[in-house]
Amino acid sequence: MTAEILDGKFYSEKIKNSLMKSIDTLKTTYNVTPKLVVVIVGEDEASKIYVANKHKTCLNLNIDSDIVQLDANISKEELISEIEKLNNDPNVNGILIQLPLPQNLRKDEIEILSAIDPIKDVDGFSAINIGKLELGVENLVPCTPYGCVKMLEYAGIEIEGKHAVVIGRSNIVGRPMYNLLLARNATVTICHSKTKNLAEFTKQADILVVAIGKPNFVTKDMVKKGAVVIDVGINRVPGTRKINGDVDFESVKEVASHITPVPGGVGLITIAMLIHNTLKAICLQKNIDIPLLQDY
Ligand code: NAD
Repeated sequence: MTAEILDGKFYSEKIKNSLMKSIDTLKTTYNVTPKLVVVIVGEDEASKIYVANKHKTCLNLNIDSDIVQLDANISKEELISEIEKLNNDPNVNGILIQLPLPQNLRKDEIEILSAIDPIKDVDGFSAINIGKLELGVENLVPCTPYGCVKMLEYAGIEIEGKHAVVIGRSNIVGRPMYNLLLARNATVTICHSKTKNLAEFTKQADILVVAIGKPNFVTKDMVKKGAVVIDVGINRVPGTRKINGDVDFESVKEVASHITPVPGGVGLITIAMLIHNTLKAICLQKNIDIPLLQDY
């Protein structure tokens, strides 16, 4: 068996094409040009690349995008005051704080992210939006797990009644992934670094989502025949510009029914969903009801 590739480029283009129509409607019917502001604190090189990619996607889709670069030594209070300025700017529709924050601010991460106005919080990481997701309300949902679920839906992969196993319990991927799959009536198991006999769980998965940050960690012997495997991992190969996923793609594709590649998988969908969330934020702010994602 060779797995069908879940092609992130294909699905992200479909999503962006759909969003371009909504951007056009927002401009022509509602006189709104969407604006996303990305705040970057410090000089993390990988973060700069991610931010530049987000900026480029905005420009390609004709939406306004600003990057606010702040000093790594900024205090929590100063950073929150910058966020409040953006909250109060009526021209700003979406605010994103690029993670990771510098070491000195990490203990305050939840407080800082929760300072973003929940209806401008396009990453969906504020306590209000995370809490809503936990309660089954999908307002502004973290882009990566939301994109994974949308890709499954577009590919016609049934989630209801399936056993989904998520490896990783971070606030930005694993936990929201758990809630999104549960809301779609999967039976969900969440595993993490302290899980004993991990392979016993992963081998039960009809849908296996891997978000741990360890290159090629999941191998063929950990995967059930016919499973759908979603690889969220982005791991830089030291000394190169190459990236690897958390799944050993070459061996796992022999047993899986579907698999996402890295690069070319979840990462591309994530950026498309960021644009989706920026438009969704506008709809929430201005009480506009327009379709954002076409059904395929
Ligand atoms: P994180 O470091 O915050 O969390 C990692 C999780 O993996 C933890 O919950 C930990 O318990 C678990 N884990 C670590 N080692 C494990 C092991 N040996 N067995 C089982 N569980 C283990 O990471 P994150 O922010 O959730 O990111 C995970 C990966 O996804 C990283 O490679 C990151 O770069 C990538 N990522 C990709 C996108 C994208 O757009 N594709 C977005 C966000 C994160």
